[in-house]
Amino acid sequence: MGIQGSGKGTQATLLADDLDLEHISVGDIFRWNVQHHTKLGAQVTRIMSSGHLVDDDLVETVVRDRLAAHDWNFGFVVDGFPRNARQAEFFLESYDIDGVINLHLPDEEVMRRVLARRLCSQCGLDYNLIAHRPQQEGVCDMCAGALVMRADDNPEALAVRLSDYHEQTRPLIEIFQRKEYVATIDATEPVVEVQDAIRRRFGLPMRSVEAAGTG
Ligand SMILES: [Zn+2]
Repeated sequence: MGIQGSGKGTQATLLADDLDLEHISVGDIFRWNVQHHTKLGAQVTRIMSSGHLVDDDLVETVVRDRLAAHDWNFGFVVDGFPRNARQAEFFLESYDIDGVINLHLPDEEVMRRVLARRLCSQCGLDYNLIAHRPQQEGVCDMCAGALVMRADDNPEALAVRLSDYHEQTRPLIEIFQRKEYVATIDATEPVVEVQDAIRRRFGLPMRSVEAAGTG
């Protein structure tokens, strides 16, 4: 669990790639549908541009379908689910969960990170004015297209998402704290340090030298 900008997807990918886990990202599934102009994609675009989160039933359907594939031998890391108390109960009853990783990032830092994001209007490449700056301001390194902000990356829409997130997450953390191991990790640290902290907390093998080198 973690708000956007907390590095949730990056951390899940590092865990999954190195430990042979299946990474199930609700965001990636939705993005695929938006890019391929599916009916689901159009629905998601409409909701996001109003600054709100995709509704719980839609998320639940997508995740249930994905988990039903049963393609994980060593387990999975799910990111972006569950989103409400009912889904959390269903999830805990249906699967053997080892733990919940809660990436903590203060709201001011979320604002700073998210508002620094840019996207090439031509080729879709992602930039970040903090971590991944273009060589020339406002211009894509790859195709010279103009860099723009996503429609939903504005302070007003972000404030709505932050308050939605906190409102939804608080009861979930309480449920997980009663039943499962919740590890709250400081997500302001660099990516590799956050990854190491997660592994230490869950007693997972530490990153191999090769993996550490690419981080
Ligand atoms: Zn470009």
